Amino acid sequence: MASLRSLEPEVRSVAQQFVAFLNKAGVRVTVTSTRRDLDEQARLYAEYKAGRSKYPAAAPGHSTHALGIAFDLHLDPPLYPQAGALWESLGGTWGGRFDDPIHFDLRRWYGVP
Ligand SMILES: [Zn+2]
Repeated sequence: MASLRSLEPEVRSVAQQFVAFLNKAGVRVTVTSTRRDLDEQARLYAEYKAGRSKYPAAAPGHSTHALGIAFDLHLDPPLYPQAGALWESLGGTWGGRFDDPIHFDLRRWYGVP
């Protein structure tokens, strides 16, 4: 399981509370990706471009994962919209708005478009 500890401190704190809240509500959550280096992002982007990935990946240098302000979660698929709405209520960006429901980030906190 990827560790939320690799995220920027403010993001890590909010992400940990978010996951704890979901767990408390009975939602089983797995953190599948957090901060990525350029090599990892390039690999994921290549997979996506080749049609081998179900989820979109940004080009290297254009991912909020590289900034340490994003994480991906696996949970029961019907629960994504509720989790996304909760995340958005905290000021976060939910990837369900752009075909990437597993993705959660805090780009708006950092002024990242
Ligand atoms: Zn993501």
